[in-house]
Amino acid sequence: MGHDRYDVIIVGAGPAGSSAAKICADHNLSVALIEKGRFPGSKNMFGDTIYRAATEEIIPGFWEEAPIERKVIRETLYFMEADSFVEMGFTSFKFAKPPYNTFTVIRSRFDRWLAGLTEKAGAHLMNSTLVEDILFEKDGPGSKKVGGVILEDGTRIYSDIVILAEGAMADLAQEIGLRKKISTDILSVYVKELIALPREIIEDRFNLEKDEGMNIGMVGFPTAGAIGKAGIWLNKDTISLIVGGHLNHLIKNGLNPYQLLCRLKEHPAVKRLIDGGETVQYMGKIIPKGGYDRIPELYDNGIMIVGDAGMLVSGRHGTDAAMLSGKYAAETAIQAKAKGDFSKKTLSAYQTKINYSFFLNNLKINRKSSDYYKKYPDADFLISKTLNKLVYEFFTEGNLTQEEKFKMMLEKVKSIQPIFKSLKDFYHAVLNWRIY
Ligand SMILES: Cc1cc2nc3c(=O)[nH]c(=O)nc-3n(C[C@H](O)[C@H](O)[C@H](O)COP(=O)(O)OP(=O)(O)OC[C@H]3O[C@@H](n4cnc5c(N)ncnc54)[C@H](O)[C@@H]3O)c2cc1C
Repeated sequence: MGHDRYDVIIVGAGPAGSSAAKICADHNLSVALIEKGRFPGSKNMFGDTIYRAATEEIIPGFWEEAPIERKVIRETLYFMEADSFVEMGFTSFKFAKPPYNTFTVIRSRFDRWLAGLTEKAGAHLMNSTLVEDILFEKDGPGSKKVGGVILEDGTRIYSDIVILAEGAMADLAQEIGLRKKISTDILSVYVKELIALPREIIEDRFNLEKDEGMNIGMVGFPTAGAIGKAGIWLNKDTISLIVGGHLNHLIKNGLNPYQLLCRLKEHPAVKRLIDGGETVQYMGKIIPKGGYDRIPELYDNGIMIVGDAGMLVSGRHGTDAAMLSGKYAAETAIQAKAKGDFSKKTLSAYQTKINYSFFLNNLKINRKSSDYYKKYPDADFLISKTLNKLVYEFFTEGNLTQEEKFKMMLEKVKSIQPIFKSLKDFYHAVLNWRIY
């Protein structure tokens, strides 16, 4: 049964919130984990990959019990043109064995399972419950501290610490001024279609053994010149097809993601992969992709922000940062409880942990890449065009000497853009292989 005071209230039962809740509850803190969805993950959409290394920091050996769809053994990137594609990829059969590398999951199953573990650890999970507001209390002269939350029905619940794990739109973090209002120039929009096919057909079609999985990243053709990406992920008996991009840029180019999805399904490379499949679900999501420069201050008196709510996401690398930031916030809450001090100063330990994390450092590095795409929005489009022209000529049999052929190939490449720019585009496409 719930009560009206907890050590920690966590808003949002996504990977960030549930990770924080589990660790706090494991350490005997009283925890309310509040989720607006009918159940955790009921509305969550993503690109289906979770990362073993980060997930294991919360639940060692999680794959034994977690609702895993497939163990990913192959990562592929398609540089696409309308009637051809150049493929880069890697398969490791080591990734098919423990401890594995990455997995595909369906969020409505995975998030629900993870939140279930927090309940087993003693947290109080409240589904179908929207947190409407943050409660403040006086904390000495001129100073205030977060002291709990107000629910949609007006119920007040109090706590020493609130952890905001409310995901990318972060209404509450914005409301209390910890995060800036979202501007449209940082919004991306993605649509996803889930296509059902018998498991054996999927494995046969993608050349996989039972339970093995793969991902395909797609650039060039799918976004018709706009900044964005597409991808295919394999679940047990469904294929996820995702496409989308930078909102302003799509609008500027007169594109909408649903049209892009329909167009992509007709591409011969994709059509044959999903042939005979039945559409079982459509989902869409708008995400603010602020990058390193938009990361807000992640803590204040009595409050910490974790996961996407704190902009700790670089596209497809999101669940790992979410889970680890949840862990760091939980560790900080446990220390604060032991000291009986929930001030900003004590909670700054959370920021220190984040500052040393690999994901923050990666976000810092990726900043250069986002600048590159802002400067050259059609970089992926041009490199796809270039590579396809080059490889087409390479494999097309004509009555040319090798010397004539290479000269012709060079001319073709130069006719699109200077070679040095193509090399830079290629570098950025590979660097951003997994970043959405
Ligand atoms: C197209 C796309 C593809 C992606 N692909 C990948 C991928 O392959 N791998 C990866 O690791 N990441 C991927 N990501 C990113 C990943 O989805 C996020 O980084 C991750 O879900 C963040 O977890 P979170 O717990 O911070 O937030 P969320 O998962 O968004 O969870 C937030 C939760 O809070 C709840 N909530 C919100 N407000 C309230 C409120 N006021 N009261 C109560 N509950 C509330 C929501 O219902 C939700 O359950 C992708 C994202 C997109 C959009």
